[in-house]
Amino acid sequence: MGQHVRVAVIGSGFGGLGAAVRLRREGITDFVVLERADSVGGTWRDNSYPGCACDVPSHLYSFSFAPNPDWPRTFSGQPHIRAYLEHVADTFGLRPHVRLNHEVRLMRWDSDALRWEIETSQGALSADVVVSAAGPLSDPRIPEIPGLAEFPGKVFHSARWDHDYDLRGKRVAMIGTGASAIQIVPAIQPEVARLTLFQRTPPWVMPRADRAISGAERRLHRTLPFTGAARRRLLWGIRELQVQAFTKRPNQLGLVESLAKANMKKAIKDPALRAKLTPSYRIGCKRILLSSAYYPALARPNVDLVASGLAEVRGSTLVAADGTETEADAVVFGTGFHVTDMPIAERVVGADGITLAEAWKDGMESLRGATAAGFPNWMTIIGPNTGLGNSSMILMIESQLNYMAGYLRQLDTLGGHAALGARPSAVRAWNHRVQERMKRTVWNTGGCTSWYLDDNGRNTTIWPGTTTEFRRATREVDLAEYEVIRAAGPERTTETAGPEQTTAAAGPEQTTEPEQTTEPEQTTEKEAVR
Ligand code: NAP
Repeated sequence: MGQHVRVAVIGSGFGGLGAAVRLRREGITDFVVLERADSVGGTWRDNSYPGCACDVPSHLYSFSFAPNPDWPRTFSGQPHIRAYLEHVADTFGLRPHVRLNHEVRLMRWDSDALRWEIETSQGALSADVVVSAAGPLSDPRIPEIPGLAEFPGKVFHSARWDHDYDLRGKRVAMIGTGASAIQIVPAIQPEVARLTLFQRTPPWVMPRADRAISGAERRLHRTLPFTGAARRRLLWGIRELQVQAFTKRPNQLGLVESLAKANMKKAIKDPALRAKLTPSYRIGCKRILLSSAYYPALARPNVDLVASGLAEVRGSTLVAADGTETEADAVVFGTGFHVTDMPIAERVVGADGITLAEAWKDGMESLRGATAAGFPNWMTIIGPNTGLGNSSMILMIESQLNYMAGYLRQLDTLGGHAALGARPSAVRAWNHRVQERMKRTVWNTGGCTSWYLDDNGRNTTIWPGTTTEFRRATREVDLAEYEVIRAAGPERTTETAGPEQTTAAAGPEQTTEPEQTTEPEQTTEKEAVR
């Protein structure tokens, strides 16, 4: 058996690097970050497709403890976000902890030793606690299309862009119209001979007010850091108010639909094309997309819209579900990721000898987005129901880091060798609250299907509240929601940490504390990252 560490973090995207920073700040240095690729950055390393950018402003889409006064644009492109994460790894001294090219193959809970045995592509190690920050947008999903394997041309996914393949002068088929595809279309349209877009469901698209951040603004943020912080708080506050319409009053979103329709009308003059592009579900049900370049690109003469999904491939002919046939040299899949069937779950074997995927066969369920019953000392960053439809995931990640830090502190207070296992009753209570609250949200009532919903139609990805509410729900670990597991000699014992019926069920709506009115920051100590 190889090295033993206190904490093994999986993944080095925003979640994994954030966890590493937080561990160090908690005074924990006995940890590793296991990364399957050859550099850090997670989804912002993998997604290098033309036009890739974030649709959340960078002053909000960054760590509160690592402000960057030098963001070049209001909505930064992928290279800048990736560089930011590289800088975070340097600035916070994370490199010695990161094990690149270490793919985690299997994690098995050892109930006697109370630790995780971890097999990686470069040998074994063990850890008291596993923090899985593998991320929901890490494993590309390509639909099973009959005949695709025999397609004679080039095929790749948006998150595995082949930069060696020259698209110039080619007949390219773009499959899908999600957040990735609508950025790719305007970026490649000018250079390809013909672009055919296979649209199964039209998205709602709002204009993106992207602009360069002036030198004067950057200087201001550099010399007076509170101005950058104020900018961030404003961006956060607006989204915090907006989310109420998504979660409580979807009917109010009709006004936003009018704005999106006006955005389309400005660029698309052909009424037949406009009809094909107009969604029939409530805006916000699927992620609202931001682009000022998408519709103008669709109006160009070298672009065709097939308002139907790709159903079959016959040689070099792509056949849509409505029978439309298209000849192509290359097929680019913008078909998203394995989200509700989190692939890392197949590699985790818990206390009862079953995988997390088996435990979640009827849908993902965790306690406060972090821990799962039967999987002691194992937690996720961006776990079930921690996603956002309209704001920055970094806010949610930082809340989960608070929870992680609290969890480790609780383990410390137990003294001696012990583990914590989420009580099934607490997991059930939490999920009941979340799903009750979900019922009236636009994601469940808006009349669409989306990757937010699992195969059973249950929304196991989105948080049905404000980021403030999630922050509060994850501020500390309530021991009553856990059983304490101790290795007492050869016999394993389980302690009751608190009463079964506890505040465990205090979901988003059951708190009595006052709302916080400013964005809660993780720490007061900051390091500027440029
Ligand atoms: P996605 O949102 O899951 O979109 C997948 C698209 O593929 C959908 O339009 C889907 O259609 C379509 N599709 C699936 N099978 C198809 C078929 N056989 N024929 C035609 N279309 C098919 O994936 P994504 O665009 O990669 O985005 C995933 C997530 O990544 C986003 O929601 C967002 O959270 C994140 N992202 C963020 C940014 C950003 O700016 N921050 C940029 C890119 C991605 P249906 O709608 O009919 O299912």
